Amino acid sequence: MLLQPSIDPVPVIVEKGGGVSPFVLVCEHAGLAVPAALGDLGLMDDCWKQHIASDLGAKQVARHLAQQLSSALIFQQYSRLVIDCNRTYKAKSLIPEVSHGTEISGNKGLGKMQRMARIDEIHVPFHKEIEHVLETRQRQDIQTILASIHSFTPKLGNEDRPWHIGVQYAKNMTFANIVMRILREDSVLYVGDNQPWPVHEIDDYTIPIHGDGRNIPYVMIEVRQDLIATKETQISWAERLSHTLKRASSEYYSLA
Ligand SMILES: [Zn+2]
Repeated sequence: MLLQPSIDPVPVIVEKGGGVSPFVLVCEHAGLAVPAALGDLGLMDDCWKQHIASDLGAKQVARHLAQQLSSALIFQQYSRLVIDCNRTYKAKSLIPEVSHGTEISGNKGLGKMQRMARIDEIHVPFHKEIEHVLETRQRQDIQTILASIHSFTPKLGNEDRPWHIGVQYAKNMTFANIVMRILREDSVLYVGDNQPWPVHEIDDYTIPIHGDGRNIPYVMIEVRQDLIATKETQISWAERLSHTLKRASSEYYSLA
């Protein structure tokens, strides 16, 4: 056992939401927890405040958004540096040894058992909860749109990332296209089309497995981190996203 129930937090939190929203929100990179048995993974304190450890501001935006939409939110409590819950088991970055130039000594030379403990105790329960929520809704014939909420750093190495928001998709771009079109009605907003990077169909988990894999409409959204650095901006972005997603869902269902 890696996680000790008396000290370590549970990996996944499901906030059910009170309403009848079609949306199910997922936040894979919300967390900053590290199992006590892993110490600090060999990292300096400063690393835990950076984008490599979690999607800064994403959990707060997702929570406000879930409230506005009255929708369910499922988020991961452990840091993506412990295990990245938006990666498949074969992805190299599942348990990264290096993340954007920072070496993670606590992830080096892991044995099979150590890797399996992180997968079985953190990654598996997270996706089982998503599976459970989506499959229960499907059995009850409830319309569902999956929205995966992330944030991205404004500067990666020497690369400036100018978009305010990125809208991402893999095979099925129908819902994402509606979201992009609505966001672009605000001419000031710079909307990235499958930016800051496209969904990777082999390495990424949530969209390929729960979106395309279940053949349900979905969108992945990334907001630039400097735009959601305060409580006020997190709330105002959640409001913007809530209006956008509500309109996008009515348009989507009117197509059917
Ligand atoms: Zn992310």
